[in-house]
Amino acid sequence: MEFPNENCANKTGNIEVVATTDIIIVGAGVAGAALAYSLGKDGRRVRVIERDLNEPRRIAGENLMPGGYLKLIELGLKDCVDDIDAQRLLGYVLYMDGKDAPLAYPLEKFQSHVAGRGFHNGRFVRRLREKAASLHNVSLEQGTVTSLLEGNGTVKGVHYKDKSGQLQTAYAPLTVVCDGCFSNLRRALCNPKIDVPSYCVGLVLTNCKLPRENYGGLVISKPSPFAFYPISSTEIRCLVDVPSQNVPSVSDGEMAHYLKTQVAPKVLPELYTAFISAIEKGNIKTMPNKIMAGSPHRTPGALLIGDALNMRHSITGGGMTVALSDKVLNASSDPTMVDIQEACFGYLRLGGVFAYGLSALHSGLCPHPLRLAFHILAMAIYGVGRLLLPFPSPKRLWHVAKLLWVGSSIVLPFVQSEGVRQMFFPRTVPAYYRTPPGNNKNRKEWEETPWIN
Ligand SMILES: Cc1cc2nc3c(=O)[nH]c(=O)nc-3n(C[C@H](O)[C@H](O)[C@H](O)COP(=O)(O)OP(=O)(O)OC[C@H]3O[C@@H](n4cnc5c(N)ncnc54)[C@H](O)[C@@H]3O)c2cc1C
Repeated sequence: MEFPNENCANKTGNIEVVATTDIIIVGAGVAGAALAYSLGKDGRRVRVIERDLNEPRRIAGENLMPGGYLKLIELGLKDCVDDIDAQRLLGYVLYMDGKDAPLAYPLEKFQSHVAGRGFHNGRFVRRLREKAASLHNVSLEQGTVTSLLEGNGTVKGVHYKDKSGQLQTAYAPLTVVCDGCFSNLRRALCNPKIDVPSYCVGLVLTNCKLPRENYGGLVISKPSPFAFYPISSTEIRCLVDVPSQNVPSVSDGEMAHYLKTQVAPKVLPELYTAFISAIEKGNIKTMPNKIMAGSPHRTPGALLIGDALNMRHSITGGGMTVALSDKVLNASSDPTMVDIQEACFGYLRLGGVFAYGLSALHSGLCPHPLRLAFHILAMAIYGVGRLLLPFPSPKRLWHVAKLLWVGSSIVLPFVQSEGVRQMFFPRTVPAYYRTPPGNNKNRKEWEETPWIN
């Protein structure tokens, strides 16, 4: 459905364009399509402009955490993971130096359908778009937004090229920009600083099974970590993190050589043959892992959301990276980093409340900043204890000092970018931001008992 702009005379007699759209959304990816559906359901007139309406083919966004699944239910979008051969995910197993640490998502208090999901991102996005477009007050059109339309410091709409390449203008009181990690609009609305610490290299493995059914796997190894998780009943996605300093070229076969020599020897034995044959098939895709801190400029008339606003390391597919950061997962020649990596792994292997609590954070089931702070502190105590035992010596105390110093240099920038108040005094921030999922009345629909953990 199209909403035409209308020309009206204002009080001074000048002709001006009045928008008949309430909200323009730039980009119909995960964020844009879901938002369009939500706003449309609320009765807003929404106009979505998406660069390419074909089913996306990408290696990103294939592992939805249980917390994300709960959000889908809340938004009325649960059926978007039906009929796309999505696979249930109940947790992850971490592998390091021949040892493993299973991390189950804390799902006991939920109905049995609540779990993570692995799927083809394109199929999921197609379903979200279909759902948004099914509403009569949501229009979804193909076009590439080239710039924001600004006047007197306020965003009034967008300039875009339509499907036939014609330059067009669309007006609305609010423009929501969610054009993803390659956004060309974010620099107008946000601090444009971007860091690319590594690239994700994606392969699809067939004719194999993960060692533990319904569990993904994360191998922490040198030179960097890699993950496995099912994306259909017959396919397993493998994502390998390759540090930015030396990304081999895919086209001249250097990447295939790198994967065979540097990664394959550490691949789980059950997946080795499928891993090698996936490399030989040659369908290797790469994507940058961008670290983009969300520090928007307040701009009337516009809002930036999704990856365009804030992007973190993708390998864990969730918020745990906020606590651990890619620096912890990646191998390092620095002995202090090795100490931190081993402390994290050992902490997770403790199981019980330690693994459970971190898993709840990582899976989005318990997104409480204070709980994150608690686990960071507990992990620090565990790491210090590990280094000091069986008895402290000057050398060990020196290692502890370095561990605390390096650990703080990882965690404190996150505390700074998220905000000290949000992190340690969440109750003092506006209620909208701090409503815990457990207080949400919709939650009762999918939760069997109140969230008490
Ligand atoms: C390698 C990798 C793996 C990942 N794995 C996971 C994972 O397992 N689990 C997880 O939760 N997250 C994962 N992520 C992150 C996840 O993909 C993103 O958080 C999510 O896709 C963000 O949604 P979005 O709507 O902001 O952006 P996108 O889904 O990228 O959508 C942006 C949309 O905007 C459109 N667009 C772009 N420019 C324009 C323009 N100028 N005009 C109009 N339209 C435009 C694009 O075509 C696209 O459809 C991963 C990311 C990477 C890089």
